[in-house]
Amino acid sequence: MEVFGPVPSRRLGQSLGINHIPPKTCSYACIYCQLGQTQNLSVSRNIYTDPEMLRRQVNQKLGQVRASGQTVDYLTFVPDGEPTLDSRLGQAIRQLKVYKTPIAVISNASLIWREDVQDDLAEADWVSLKVDAATERLWKRINRPHRSLQLPAILTGSERFARRYSGCLVTETMLVAGYNDEPEQVEAIARQIGRIRPKTAYLLVPTRPPAESYVHKPTLERLRMVGRTIAAIADVPVSITDQDENAADFFFGQNVLIDLLQTLAVHPVREDVMQILITERGLDPIVLNRLLEQKLILSSVYDGRTYYRKNIQAEEARHMADDLHENG
Ligand code: SF4
Repeated sequence: MEVFGPVPSRRLGQSLGINHIPPKTCSYACIYCQLGQTQNLSVSRNIYTDPEMLRRQVNQKLGQVRASGQTVDYLTFVPDGEPTLDSRLGQAIRQLKVYKTPIAVISNASLIWREDVQDDLAEADWVSLKVDAATERLWKRINRPHRSLQLPAILTGSERFARRYSGCLVTETMLVAGYNDEPEQVEAIARQIGRIRPKTAYLLVPTRPPAESYVHKPTLERLRMVGRTIAAIADVPVSITDQDENAADFFFGQNVLIDLLQTLAVHPVREDVMQILITERGLDPIVLNRLLEQKLILSSVYDGRTYYRKNIQAEEARHMADDLHENG
């Protein structure tokens, strides 16, 4: 369990991230996932969080951030997996309300048909539900769901949740060229968004290296067409986001290296941003080479730019080795 950032969020301003799910444990294996391949494709809700320990970690981090004169706009459950797989999500959110900072959850909506998941999400101030596809074939191609999941249950579950939820509900649609940017698919997605009636329908494009190299973002012209179609059919505000961040937007506390690795676990960072972070935050430039040599972080190129992310498998291997060492 890690609390990281704040990092600039496309939708939430300065967001203090909460990563409370084991690495890449998700009910989906989206082709565009910026965190790499799903390691544990699961729909089982398990106890992953100790809510009191999480509250203490958030407390410490908020103290550091505020002491440096920075602000936090949201506490955001945005793990490197699906947040609703944690059966204590609702309890964890309730514990964090003491900080009077809005709490957000970014969910892929795959378990929204479950009443207990709806109850947990209803505790948050801001919830994002994924709507990448409204037809079975496209859903399976783009989100590659766990085989037990049923799209109709997810779509009607999202609508039921929207009717009962009193917070700010938004939808998120990641657009992938040749997949869900075709007019017929866009219209089906728009009708589904119209039934959910979010405050805003966010349209995103892959801006960091995706799980599959064949994933590309739609052209600007196509993106505008999708935006116009969704706004017209769903009759809700549409926001198109394809921007990346600047180094100035990241916050690191006293232990810059740990903060950097925690951020890289869920948020790949562009090379130029990384160089500025290293220089400005006083990290020895050799550290980046060491991290790469030890395979603790990985680099990849997307859209002509190099990005770095934490190597989750190396981390797991290291923990296993430590455990064997301690128990052996
Ligand atoms: S994009 Fe989100 S929902 Fe899709 S595989 Fe990655 S973590 Fe899971």
